Amino acid sequence: MSASTSTDPVLTLADLEAWSRPGTSLAVFGHPIKHSISPAMHNAALSDLARTEPRFADWKYFKFEIHPDTLPQALEVLRAKKFRGVNLTVPHKIIAFDRVAAVDPAAQPVGAVNTLLLTEAGWRGHNTDGYGLATAVRENLGLDLAGGHIVLLGAGGAARGAAVECLQRRCASLWIANRTRENLDALLATIAPIAHGIPVYGFAPGEIPRDLPTGAIVINATSAGLRDTDPLPIDLTALPRPVAVFDMIYNPPQTGLLRAAAALGLPTANGLDMLVHQGAKALEIWTGISATRTAPTMGAAARTAMAAK
Ligand code: NDP
Repeated sequence: MSASTSTDPVLTLADLEAWSRPGTSLAVFGHPIKHSISPAMHNAALSDLARTEPRFADWKYFKFEIHPDTLPQALEVLRAKKFRGVNLTVPHKIIAFDRVAAVDPAAQPVGAVNTLLLTEAGWRGHNTDGYGLATAVRENLGLDLAGGHIVLLGAGGAARGAAVECLQRRCASLWIANRTRENLDALLATIAPIAHGIPVYGFAPGEIPRDLPTGAIVINATSAGLRDTDPLPIDLTALPRPVAVFDMIYNPPQTGLLRAAAALGLPTANGLDMLVHQGAKALEIWTGISATRTAPTMGAAARTAMAAK
């Protein structure tokens, strides 16, 4: 199976409506979706599984460009065509949350779903991004969110998922910085009910709290860094020495924040393995095969696909 994204066609709602492929189909919906390397990852893992388990020989994963206005219709067609599952990426994760038949309890406080499984009652929504983050932080940096002090940058959808994961795993404290105070306050209010005694603080990136502990794991969940011209989401030299910096962005592979962290001698990791592990967990939900078994194949495919970009 080629891991090249250029060989993965971008399909449309019209293609879905005309769908007649026999076998088990999986999908990812996004807008835009062209950049997605998820088909390369999932199809590599499915090919690998089929070598030892023939029942996976007819499984395949496809990417669809779906406009948010047509998401409900697309999910209905997907169900009628008996797709086993679908991944959702920007901007569908939040829109779909209120439109699925059931939501996995762990995903409830996130308010967003990235993996849907077809059940008799309809789509069941899960969110595997938090698992992807926690697993990548452990694998790449040797650190656990559980028991760690976390400095989280951002207050958008990815930050919300990360904050929920940190709290569900019982981090020691959570310090959230965001450019726009209003968005920060909304996030703090949303996660307050699940803090259960864990200290949670919000601050402006330019005003570092005096009591912020040393040795925190810094996680960038802002989109600052996607472009070369973006400002740094925080000045790392103004923080008490962190233990490591994780950036959810993986394209470019090294953001300004990761460069700044490396210059300070801090361990760093980008978001590619977060993508890999959320994908492996999604595949586990659809196949019952442990995410730890498929992650290495998905990781290799992801690296090949990124190198081809
Ligand atoms: P959202 O649009 O929901 O949130 C964007 C966040 O970035 C907000 O907090 C926003 O702050 C902040 N921001 C944007 N531009 C700047 C800037 N120039 N300076 C400082 N802060 C800025 O996006 P998502 O939460 O969905 O995604 C965030 C990032 O995480 C993206 O880069 C995405 O690619 C990555 N991601 C990676 C994943 C992975 O698997 N590796 C999974 C999911 C996301 P404000 O409130 O002030 O606007």
